[in-house]
Parts: sequence; structure tokens; C-alpha cells
Amino acid sequence: MEINMTVKEQKQYYESNAFREKYMYTGDDLGASCDENRTQFKLWSPLADSITLNLYFNRTDAAFQSISMEKQEKGVWVYQTSQSYHGVYYDYTIEIDGKKQLSADPYAKACACNGERSMVVDLSLTNPDGWEQDKAPQKTDEQIVYELHVKDFSHDPASGIPKQYRGKYKAFTFTGTTLNGDGIHPTGVDYLKNLGITHVQLMPIFDYGSVNEEKSEEEYNWGYDPLNYNVPEGSYATDPFLGEVRIRELKEAILSLHKNGLRVIMDVVYNHTYHVDSWLNRTVPNYFYRQFEDGTYCNGSQCGNDIATEREMCSKYILDSVLYWAREYHMDGFRFDLMGLMNVSLLNRIRKALDKEFGENEILLYGEPWSAGDSPMAEGELPCKKNNMKYLDEHVGVFSDSTRDSIKGHVFDNQIPGFVNGGKGLEETILCDVRAWQKADANFPVKAPSQIINYISAHDNLTLWDKLVVSMKPQLSFLEKDKEILRAYKMAAAVNFTCQGRLFLLAGEEAARTKLGDENSYISSPSINQLDWKRMYEYENLIEYYRGLIALRKQLPGLWDKTANAVNHIVDEKIPMDGVVQFSVKNEKTAKWSQLAIWYNNTNNIQKLALPEGEWQILLDETSSFLWKMQEIVSGQQEISPVSVKIFGKRSL
Ligand code: CA
Repeated sequence: MEINMTVKEQKQYYESNAFREKYMYTGDDLGASCDENRTQFKLWSPLADSITLNLYFNRTDAAFQSISMEKQEKGVWVYQTSQSYHGVYYDYTIEIDGKKQLSADPYAKACACNGERSMVVDLSLTNPDGWEQDKAPQKTDEQIVYELHVKDFSHDPASGIPKQYRGKYKAFTFTGTTLNGDGIHPTGVDYLKNLGITHVQLMPIFDYGSVNEEKSEEEYNWGYDPLNYNVPEGSYATDPFLGEVRIRELKEAILSLHKNGLRVIMDVVYNHTYHVDSWLNRTVPNYFYRQFEDGTYCNGSQCGNDIATEREMCSKYILDSVLYWAREYHMDGFRFDLMGLMNVSLLNRIRKALDKEFGENEILLYGEPWSAGDSPMAEGELPCKKNNMKYLDEHVGVFSDSTRDSIKGHVFDNQIPGFVNGGKGLEETILCDVRAWQKADANFPVKAPSQIINYISAHDNLTLWDKLVVSMKPQLSFLEKDKEILRAYKMAAAVNFTCQGRLFLLAGEEAARTKLGDENSYISSPSINQLDWKRMYEYENLIEYYRGLIALRKQLPGLWDKTANAVNHIVDEKIPMDGVVQFSVKNEKTAKWSQLAIWYNNTNNIQKLALPEGEWQILLDETSSFLWKMQEIVSGQQEISPVSVKIFGKRSL
């Protein structure tokens, strides 16, 4: 490397054709690969003057061997041996411009406790029984995603999960667990299965830096601070010290979820790293980060740094990482954190690569179409934001904050209500939600409902319960039951579930989850964050309401259609008065109901409205989401209760 290159010169160099031609490596073998007959180490570090591979027996001892690596083409350094080094720990001493630095392997597949040293792993030795036969359950017509944090799921003793496995990957391997072991109320995986969701989205399960894995029991973090992108987090393993345990236990969890009919999505954070002093930065200084010309790092993530996702070897790093998780861990989907910091061309490339290998749209891809601040990308690249939907593949989705905010109110200004909690003048916007924003807004040019994720609560911000309490009855304790809040709650759920697009809910939303008003619980105690299984069953009726909504939604192709044609199913939209919205849905002829009439009423009065001609079956109202199981036939003028949703279906002939 040229000594004394300015940041501007370095940036130009990294983005030059000369650099690209000389150093763009296309092989898929970076990192340490190992089987019983050989071990190979490969590290991309084009500017290094020398690299030494250090081998250790454990995570704290001195190296038992240090080996000079050989520089090959394209800036890749290599060492190979005909022995298996499975279980050997390693790192690199990288010399650049006369300065030597120690670094773990950015391509590591396993690591020591707390991730500071990498570990060689023969992955064939990490597979649980039955892993080779593991297959995701059949793809369903509708997808309902449930966002879950590993620790939240089973930290509560009432979960009935054995103590040593609470908060761990292992908790997902249990079936037959019940509330305090009462034998009546299912918890854990049985509960998820019973609810009818199709996908579990795990909050970060790659190795993150903010929890000390040595004493992780009472420590808590959401985990949006990547340390080792291709290694599972150790604090969820029963033994964070032995590198292969976390790998095997995560695979066991996925195997069990698959066996129980659930697909698994992982939350990935390729927009920033825990520290800017990361393995990536120690390996190729500044290559993997966006910088301003004065040398400061861009900070659109508000976490101190932004990954330069558009640079070739960085794009490759991210694509390789996604493919690795899909291949090795059988992941069925990826949720990209702050996807607005990533470039459109990369997401499109990931979509194509996954389609080619796993079948068209087998793997779900979606993310947050925003960032926390500006982060200038290289020229010609577009960020994955709402105004660029037309450039994104039709099968890359985004969270619709427009839908969220119009239903329940402003996400930061907690007093501002949405449609269900007293907001005025939102009727037209609600109809945009219903049509998944297709053809609605030039600033949000959605191609098809496949690009929309509908949600009214996620890990960020107030839970739906807390938001409704704060916006409707700020004096109320978060723990108190309240009929009016429950009414608005059910309405919010029913509106969300009658919008086109893909459905998403925060774990526990179906059971009035509260974090006692904590709107950013990323580092709060496990007890604030955990699923409170006892409280959940205090809201059993609400759980039933969600169960019915989920089951009903699966029978409504007019709403779950993800194609660009879906917009034509929504007809006869009307706003007969302030606070009342009506529309019809052309369901398919093959479905149980050929047509739907859907009414929303946010007024405090009963409203009388007319059904279109013919005989109609009541499918849902504010008391039950299982009315479709009955055969109540009505016609003509009908009532809708205050603050509620009502759905009618015309029987197919
Ligand atoms: Ca960790």
C-alpha cells in the first residue's frame, strides 16, 4: 500500500478499475475450511505486506504455532495442511505499512467465547441427528411472520422450559411444555404452532458484541452489534466456550421449528459493525466502511459506522454470508436491518442468487427501508428506501411504516393517534394501506403487495398495548385491563389483517404484550423484555382473536395475492361518513367466499350500512374472529359496532 495516502486518494483507489482488476476475488472459499483430510485458511487482505497465522489450543493461551502465509493472486493469503485442525483456535497477525495488528478472521465460521479468536470447524461434525434430512415445511400461500428474540421466548420460568435451557437455542427443541407445567396451556414451540403463524423471525442470532457470553444469564441485548457475521451468538448456547456447541444448538432449534411446521428467518445487520475497529477493518483498512473525505466515518446507522455495502468485495462478503446461512443453517428468510443503508443492486443480486439455488421466492427477503441518518453511497448506487421501490426486485419487501402509523398513530410522538385510537381524517390513507400502497403514492412506488410488510408492532418503539395506553388513557397502569383499549387493539389487528401485503407481528402482540412503556428496550432487563407467559394467558381471548384472524386470512386469496394484479381485487371503496370505511374484495371463485365486504368503523356509535346485493355470511366482528365457522346468513342493512371491524363473505356457488 502507498504510505501516506489521503482518505480521498484511498477511496478513489478502492473504487478504481485498477484495484478491481487486481484484487477482485471471486472464489467462494475465504475463511477456514476443514474436513478430516485437510484444513485451508484463506484471507483477503490485498494491502498486507505479511500475514502470520497463529494457532492456539484455547482462547487465552499463547500460540502453539505461528505460520507465515503465502500471498497468492487477488490479494488472497493462503495456508493449507493435510491435517484436520477442527477445534483449533486461530487469528492473524497482519502487517500493513510496517504496522502489525492482530485480527480474528472476518470469514470465521466458529469462534471462542466472546468471539475474539476464531476457531476452525469441520461443519460435518456439528450436525444434529436428522439434519441431513431437514427440510423446511412446504411454502404456504400466505406468510405470517412472528418476530422473536431467543431470550424473550423462554426466559420466564412460567414458560415450563427446563431451567438450564431457558433463554437458549435449546428451548426451541422442546414440545409438550405448558404454563408452569399445568398441562393445559401450551407454551414454547407448541404455542407457536397452535397460533397458526408460518415463520419465526429470530432477532440477531449471529455473534454480537454487547453481551458477555461468560456471564450472560442476566445480561440482555437485542444484538444489533455484529462481531462475527458468520458465527451464531454464544450467549444462547449452553456452552459458549466450545465453538461447535452454539452451531449445533442453533441447528437443533431450526430443525425443531421446521419439524413443527415453522419456517425460520434471521435478522441480519450488514449495515454497521459493533466497533469500527472490526476484523474487516483490521484486514483491509477502510475498505468496508463509508467515509467522508476528512476521514470521519459515515454514521447513517447512528451506531458509529456504516458498511460500504456497494463496494465489490463488500457486496461479495454480504452475499456470501447470506448464502452461507441459507446453505449451512437452512435459513428460510432474511430481514435486513436498516436496509436503507444498503444498495438496491446488492439486494437484487441476493434475490437472484437465492432464487437460483433454492427456487423462486422460496426464501423471503425484506428489510427496513430507512436509515437513522444520511450515508452517501458511491456514485450510481441507490439506497433501498421507499422512493426506490421501483428499482428493487418485486420480491424484496419493506416494512410499511405508512401502514403502521396510519393504523395506530405516530411511532415517535406517542400521543398522536391513528385510525383505531381516535385519529381523524385517515380514511383515505387506510384505503392505501388496504391496497398495500399500490398505485397510491409517487413517493412509495410499490410494484406489488410482495413488496409490503404490514405491521403494527415490532421490537422497536412502544408495543401496541403500550402505544394504545399512552395515546388513549395515559393515566392507566400498563398492567390494568381495559375494555376500550382492547376494543381498539382488536380493531388494529383486524385492519392490519385485512390489508394486502405480507403480515408481521411482534411476539406477544397477540397477547397484549407490554414493556411498561419502555420504547427502546434493547438493553433493558430480561424481565421487561421476556414473554410473560402468565400475562399472555390472561389475554387468552385476544390470543383467540388473533388465531381466528390468522386462520381466516389464510382463506382469503383476494387479500393474500402478492402479485401486481392484486390491486384489482379491491373494489367499491367508500367512505360513507367520517370514520367509516367500506370496500369489497374479489376473492377467488375457488375460495369459500367469492366476494368479501369489509367494514371499518372508528366512531363511537353503531353504524348502519348496506351490504351489496345477495346473501352474506358474517365472518368476523369485534366479538369473534371465528364467526366464519358458523353459518349466520344476512342481507341488506347491517350494523357495525363502534371501534370495530366487520367482515362478510358471499358464499361461492
Ligand atoms: Ca457474542
